[in-house]
Amino acid sequence: MHIAVITIFPEIFKAYLNESIMKKALNKEIVKIDIHNLRDFTSDKHKTVDDYPYGGGPGMVMKPEPLSNAIRHIKSDGIDTLTIMLTPQGRLFTQKVAEELSAEKRRLLLICGRYEGIDERIRETLVDDEISIGDYVLTGGELPALVIIDAVVRLLPGAVGDENSLREESFSWGILDYPHYTRPPEWQGLKVPEVLLSGNHKQIALWRRKEALKRTLKRRPDLIEKARLSEEDYKLISEIKEENDGFHKRN
Ligand code: SAM
Repeated sequence: MHIAVITIFPEIFKAYLNESIMKKALNKEIVKIDIHNLRDFTSDKHKTVDDYPYGGGPGMVMKPEPLSNAIRHIKSDGIDTLTIMLTPQGRLFTQKVAEELSAEKRRLLLICGRYEGIDERIRETLVDDEISIGDYVLTGGELPALVIIDAVVRLLPGAVGDENSLREESFSWGILDYPHYTRPPEWQGLKVPEVLLSGNHKQIALWRRKEALKRTLKRRPDLIEKARLSEEDYKLISEIKEENDGFHKRN
């Protein structure tokens, strides 16, 4: 996979991409990431990337010329490119979107905004997609770009050690992950659920599925409605509801 980023703070990317799974994926050439400094595409001696908003109001706006120069320069190599603008006004980034982007054959070009955002004419003419990482406003698009890079790259074949772990994570089945335990078997009086020590893989899988459903029902019931559930899942959900009813009646 090939990812390019346009930012005025290229240094932000170095530390994160130089650690752990991202570093390994880059070294193994599973992904190639080019970070472009927007200031390299300005034409004045101050390397100006922003200007006052027409119509007045607070803050500054990212000028169209440097951004258009940068996008056109990056695309001049002829590589098919999907240009994505990071903005709180975009479609919400979810695991499904991460999966969709990880299957992209096109190079992903991520545009990081700053200030009050980017001149609207860039969005109108040079942007294919707009993505938000959540309903809150950050100072810039660099963290959103890193969030997207991380979520997408770890889905690429060979990026994480054990790919089975990806299949069982939160959201991969449309529901939350089950609880995890490691050694010791008892810590501060709290015991690891017995079934996990039993060696009975069928029982363990069933327990995990039930716990995942239980958590999702409690914390994110909205996910249950959209999840890909099996007959067995619906049976487990009935069991959970009966157990809860029993608990409420007893208390
Ligand atoms: N005035 C803009 C608005 O209200 O929609 C917010 C601008 S924000 C301070 C500056 C930049 O940070 C944006 O252009 C965008 O690139 C990035 N940004 C902030 N929050 C974001 C989010 N939730 N998702 C994606 N990008 C975000």
